[in-house]
Amino acid sequence: MQSHRPFAKRSLGQNFLIDESVIRRIVDALGPNEGDVVVEIGPGRGALTEKLVERKAEVFAFELDTELARELKERFRASATVHIEEADALKLDFSKIGEGRNLRLVANLPYNVSTAILQRLFESADAFTECVLMFQREVVDRIAAQPGTKERGYLSVLTQAHFDVEKLFDVPPTAFRPVPNVWSSVARLKPRSDRPFDPIALEAIVSSSFAQKRKTILNNLKNVIADADQLLLQSGIDPKRRAETISLEEWFKLSASPHDKLKR
Ligand code: SAM
Repeated sequence: MQSHRPFAKRSLGQNFLIDESVIRRIVDALGPNEGDVVVEIGPGRGALTEKLVERKAEVFAFELDTELARELKERFRASATVHIEEADALKLDFSKIGEGRNLRLVANLPYNVSTAILQRLFESADAFTECVLMFQREVVDRIAAQPGTKERGYLSVLTQAHFDVEKLFDVPPTAFRPVPNVWSSVARLKPRSDRPFDPIALEAIVSSSFAQKRKTILNNLKNVIADADQLLLQSGIDPKRRAETISLEEWFKLSASPHDKLKR
């Protein structure tokens, strides 16, 4: 039985899925098989959880709302393969879930912390074989953005450095209760098999390069790297270019190894 509490906590990004066809499409996109270990962030009232259980996946679900976590524990108490925990997804150590088995991740993410949760996934990318995640549509447009587009930014580069990103479909506000003001989109993220960069260097270089979008990459990069002009030259990148035009392979060249001259 679904809970029919009339209220939702805006502060926790609570917009619950009510559209059965959308719920099914998300779970179908993940395609869990019997015995697969699926992590769910923010199960809420269990719309996705229920379908995962029907597919006989082993589910580890982390819900921050005390009351919702309690309701879910009660509802699934007879299912030995469903583990509901009251927890903050921003503090999870994904490597400790499922005793080293491959994890799949599914979530209709709370909008207010969706990009913070995404950034937490970067350091844990290897724990997952696949993630199917719903965000606000603008966020998916940013994380899937290609070089040369106006949506291309820090989050596009960092996400694509760790994951192959595929936008799957849009979801209208009417699929949720309460009805949000914005459209959502679902994306598939698969960890990249090759990640030829130093993560600290990449983070510092990309964030400073996009700090002022109207400036050239050299003028931005000078703020974190003493010999930015040399680095750009060695990487075959024209210093007058702007960050949004730089390809993933070029970012990898810029951050291939730790930089001892990073100004932090
Ligand atoms: N999965 C449900 C659905 O699709 O109907 C609920 C999705 S709702 C958009 C987001 C859920 O995440 C809410 O249940 C909310 O309480 C929970 N939540 C918010 N912040 C969280 C956090 N930091 N860690 C874990 N869960 C969180």
